[in-house]
Amino acid sequence: MEVRRDSILSLELPYRERSEIRRTVFRGAADGPRLSLVSGIHGDEIEGLYVCQQLAAWIEDTERRRPGALRGTIELYPALNPVGIDSLQRFVPVFDTDLNRSFPGRADGLLPQRVAAAAMRHLCGADLVLDIHASNIFLREIPQVRINHEFAGRLVPLAESANVDVIWVHGSMTVLEATIAHSLNDAGTPCLVVEMGVGMRVTPAFTEQLLVGILHLARRLGVLAADVELPALEHVAITADDNNVSYLNAETSGLFIPAVEHWKSVEEGQLLGRIVSPHHGEELSEVRSPTDGILFTLREYPVVYEGSLMARIVRQ
Ligand SMILES: [Zn+2]
Repeated sequence: MEVRRDSILSLELPYRERSEIRRTVFRGAADGPRLSLVSGIHGDEIEGLYVCQQLAAWIEDTERRRPGALRGTIELYPALNPVGIDSLQRFVPVFDTDLNRSFPGRADGLLPQRVAAAAMRHLCGADLVLDIHASNIFLREIPQVRINHEFAGRLVPLAESANVDVIWVHGSMTVLEATIAHSLNDAGTPCLVVEMGVGMRVTPAFTEQLLVGILHLARRLGVLAADVELPALEHVAITADDNNVSYLNAETSGLFIPAVEHWKSVEEGQLLGRIVSPHHGEELSEVRSPTDGILFTLREYPVVYEGSLMARIVRQ
């Protein structure tokens, strides 16, 4: 196995420093299939960085015990928005731009456009790209893959090996075309978007769950040798779409105090939480489930405004 660490883009910052987009490439047999992991497009989402570390550790350990286990190539791009990560910001600092609305980018554009163009140049042609997100600081998500319906035929069978709990196929109304996933899928390179955990945190149980899925995908694609032993896939995904997902939005502003646990079955009418005010003893509003189903998104940050999303439930 050959290991290479290099940078795909180096940009001069105004005062001395440079911003580099770094990657690590583990290469087995030449010309084998290629699996790429991308994370940190949003600077406040850290879960994917830990998945990259765990996958690197698994490869190094497995190649020591069983040389030749890696047949193809695994590339890690843990931090596509390094200045955002360094400064705890979701968007690209200074430009105040969502990097994941800047694809496919332009090599002669502003910094976010250049990063997007460099990422496209290197990722196009991979056999599979996983773009790992960690929600935001407001909502906690159970591990899930999100797919644009346009690409569902090709991507859903892949997502079924990803060891996630939900596969959410989005209709055309909610599709965002300037994302890395849409740009790659449009260019013929399959890309799965993973959402899990919560912003600014790492949830080891979720990263370990996804790691098992990534290894199964790698073996299925021929990136890992067919006889490499892996932990069993333990999660069977529920399929969600625009017809079976309920959104719970706050009726009033205040503090949301949940009354249920994440990823549990809930019944129609069940109390999910309360909205209270620090100025009143009595509660302002009760949050009740509109349906039977499973709570797969739950508000993490307690301060809510009228209309804030508090939970999402998928009907079974
Ligand atoms: Zn994100």
